[in-house]
Amino acid sequence: MARRQMSKRRFHRFGKKRYCYFCDNPNVKIDYKNIELMRKYMSDRGKIVAKRISGTCNKHQRRIAKEIKRARFIALVPFTVQTYR
Ligand SMILES: [Zn+2]
Repeated sequence: MARRQMSKRRFHRFGKKRYCYFCDNPNVKIDYKNIELMRKYMSDRGKIVAKRISGTCNKHQRRIAKEIKRARFIALVPFTVQTYR
């Protein structure tokens, strides 16, 4: 238990730099047609990656979620990805 807590704390201090990719690159457009980008922010199961993992800020996370949902609706990306077990 104690070990787990420690590793968590360490992650907070030295973990991956977490900054918002879109704040960093203002000319990157969050667009549902940009499938490559959308996929980056989706898990392999087709779920939207939480902002605490991707490091995206509130504002941009909202926009990504919106665009992903739009992309799903017009079937550019799947709602769920079938995995073979
Ligand atoms: Zn941002």
